[in-house]
Amino acid sequence: MNTLKQNEVWFLTGSQHLYGDETLRLVAEHSKIIAAELNQSETISVRIIFKPTVKSTEEIYAICQEANQTKSCIGIITWMHTFSPGKMWINGLKILQKPLLHLHTQFNRDIPWDAIDMDFMNLNQSAHGDREFGFLVSRMKIERKVVVGHWKDLRVKTEIDSWARAASAWADWQGAKFARFGDNMRNVSVTEGDKVEAELQFGFSVNTFPVGDLVHYINSASEQEVKLLIEEYEASYHLAENLLRNGQKRNALFDAAKIEAGMRRFLNEGGFKGFSNTFEDLHGMKQLPGIATQRLMADGFGYAGEGDWKTAALVRAMKVMGTGLEGGSAFMEDYTYHFDPNNTLVLGAHMLEVDPVLAKDKPSCEVHPLGIGGKEDPVRLVFNGKSGPSLNASLVDMGNRFRLVVNEVEAVEVPESLPNLPVARVMWKPLPDMNTGCAAWIYAGGAHHTCFSQCLTTQHLEDFAKIARIENITIDKNSTLRQLQNELKWNEIYFR
Ligand code: MN
Repeated sequence: MNTLKQNEVWFLTGSQHLYGDETLRLVAEHSKIIAAELNQSETISVRIIFKPTVKSTEEIYAICQEANQTKSCIGIITWMHTFSPGKMWINGLKILQKPLLHLHTQFNRDIPWDAIDMDFMNLNQSAHGDREFGFLVSRMKIERKVVVGHWKDLRVKTEIDSWARAASAWADWQGAKFARFGDNMRNVSVTEGDKVEAELQFGFSVNTFPVGDLVHYINSASEQEVKLLIEEYEASYHLAENLLRNGQKRNALFDAAKIEAGMRRFLNEGGFKGFSNTFEDLHGMKQLPGIATQRLMADGFGYAGEGDWKTAALVRAMKVMGTGLEGGSAFMEDYTYHFDPNNTLVLGAHMLEVDPVLAKDKPSCEVHPLGIGGKEDPVRLVFNGKSGPSLNASLVDMGNRFRLVVNEVEAVEVPESLPNLPVARVMWKPLPDMNTGCAAWIYAGGAHHTCFSQCLTTQHLEDFAKIARIENITIDKNSTLRQLQNELKWNEIYFR
């Protein structure tokens, strides 16, 4: 997952035959120039592919059908340089299954004050051509993103990229498989959910595998596989003294590496994009997987603990969305609070499984007892997170719909050394402030499990929620509890 350049967005320009050959030639020429500019832009992470102008119901239907069937096509951009009567789009849009972005732009940035004549007016018509198209899409109640501005404008390219990243994550979910080792943690509510509905709406499947099947892979990990992993651990992390060669706990490192080798092979052979497990179901495993899960997440697998398949899928989607961006997206849990009125903070962590993509410095590899799960002491990577603008996102099942809750937060440097805390940790301040942010999150039913991201913005997640056609609640610097609680009530009616 180093690039999204394998993904194509098709650039479709609508018109009609009325204009005659010369105008249509210019329309095609201009569209080609715009598509090429977007395709070459460093701001846009996918390829933008020019397609010949569509001028009839049949042509529009055919290209939508082709877009549906082309795996590499993750979405389409439409633009009406000239007037393209909306009814010609009905049949095509009716069958279109790929995300839609409507680019409301104009080839000429400026009005040529001295030269403008009716030929210019008849060619540069998107001001009304795009309104006709927009009406039809609204009338058909199709979700899309509308981006307005001149096509050379950086803000326009940034908005297109946000949507293209969301569309890439959506494409990645289609047909994706997530493995669940063991069931949900006993009695926990928010990690449960309707897996049938999720598959219908989101396109990914979640299925259970007996932990014994995984243990078989772990036990059959070869000495060579384990040796290579240990070498990688030694090269990538500061090993605690008792894990070094001849160290007292060196065996725990071998066991951890064996677990990683087995899990990696199980997931790769099965074509899984993520997984979940639970400390209540580890029969046959020596340790709760710590470093193994951490490193698998860093390699792009979605994960969440305690059977939380929704968060595992969300983590995967957000990792795809953030491909190539500075900073990471990672499974997280709001763990404990610092309620000092002068410096309120949330400490985020998990029992073991914090993704090293968040690490500020080289992680240390340590082994400590774990009071939960009743297994041998697990090996884990310990580190501090980085500061900077971040967000938490949570996907919950409200019974009649899925809701994506997003809270913008400001991550801060961990202010103290925390010598007795044997897990990786990240600290942040929720927006608009600690009390409002946490109250809003709780009113919205956001989970304790999240995907914490230092590379994505609320815009990416809004675009994603739109493509997935799910409810999206954003808590940011402008949120008030009154407004948010009303929004939740109104949404209740909308989604009924
Ligand atoms: Mn948890």
